[in-house]
Amino acid sequence: MIKFLDLEKINKEYKEELTCAFNRVVDSGWFLLGQELANFEQAYAKFCGTKYCLGVANGLDALILIVRAYKEMGIFKEGDEILVPSNTYIASILAISTNGLTPVLVEPSLGTFNMDPDLIESHITEKTRAILVVHLYGQTADMNRINQLAKKYNLKVIEDAAQAHGAEYNGKVAGNLGDAAGHSFYPGKNLGALADGGGITTNDEELYVVLKALRNYGSHIKYQNLYQGINSRLDELNAAFLSIKLEHLPAVIKKRRAIADIYLSEINNPKIVLPVVTNKNHHVWHLFVVRCDDREKLQQYLESKGIQTLIHYPIPPHKQEAYKNWVNLSLPISEKIHKEVLSIPISEVLTEEEAFEIVKYLNQY
Ligand SMILES: *Cc1c(COP(=O)(O)O)cnc(C)c1O
Repeated sequence: MIKFLDLEKINKEYKEELTCAFNRVVDSGWFLLGQELANFEQAYAKFCGTKYCLGVANGLDALILIVRAYKEMGIFKEGDEILVPSNTYIASILAISTNGLTPVLVEPSLGTFNMDPDLIESHITEKTRAILVVHLYGQTADMNRINQLAKKYNLKVIEDAAQAHGAEYNGKVAGNLGDAAGHSFYPGKNLGALADGGGITTNDEELYVVLKALRNYGSHIKYQNLYQGINSRLDELNAAFLSIKLEHLPAVIKKRRAIADIYLSEINNPKIVLPVVTNKNHHVWHLFVVRCDDREKLQQYLESKGIQTLIHYPIPPHKQEAYKNWVNLSLPISEKIHKEVLSIPISEVLTEEEAFEIVKYLNQY
């Protein structure tokens, strides 16, 4: 049986280092907002090439807090609109609607699955304040075009980099391609903690200062509250774990790229459509997603061969019960994608032999 993602095997590689960090934190007696977090924030900011990084409780909070901070700064207000891809995980959209702003869905390109820059301009209105761009499956979006449009219309660019740790674009790293970025360290992400975890990166000092208070009850100074903030912190233990795993991230990306190269060059079944890669450096392969007309049949077939697959995602956001106001919205490209996509196993612990076995069955299908 080839597992979709073997988290036990992934973390086993670091067991000794993780145990050592665990002992260090337990012995320190300090569990929140301490040196481990400061060290990780510094290391992750350096990795992304940004001036600042803030650890928060999870990726969703990271995005919610960015939008919230722009509200506190008077740059966004309730009722404003933010463009967001219609083909994304629900978190990107929740970050906007939770803050009382309106998510405006923009269809993706069928090949890359990312927001189609040609469709952005027609969605911009007087109320538009930002583009929340998602680097879906680990591939950076068309940031040149997106940043040009943002500049033209004076919009903020917020990146959802939850799936794209270390993905590059024109020599810059995801998290440093807009005004602010949300990152997730959910255990299954390419850089995963051993619990929920998230981060925000930015070069904007004013934004950073607001965010730093917002994640900690709205407080800059203990027992003084500037904002009605929330409690969203990345704990010391997981910050220490993440510092270890961050050091190994370049090797992880390299291994994932090697698996993706096998899939891209060896899968040649006309029934299976491969993802379009805009540039090898753009992609860190959080997911390897193919399209197939009879996706359910393909999934069952692979299951019968002992290959576990998943669907990212089966229901598009505009068809979710949670967003009933979109019930009559027709987004044919997103709907087609959600019907046809299948994610096949890819990870740093998947062996090349396993990848070739997956290729063999896909080509026989
Ligand atoms: C995982 C993910 C999130 C949310 O991250 P959590 O840490 O699970 O809250 C947001 N956006 C995208 C695209 C994701 O894949």
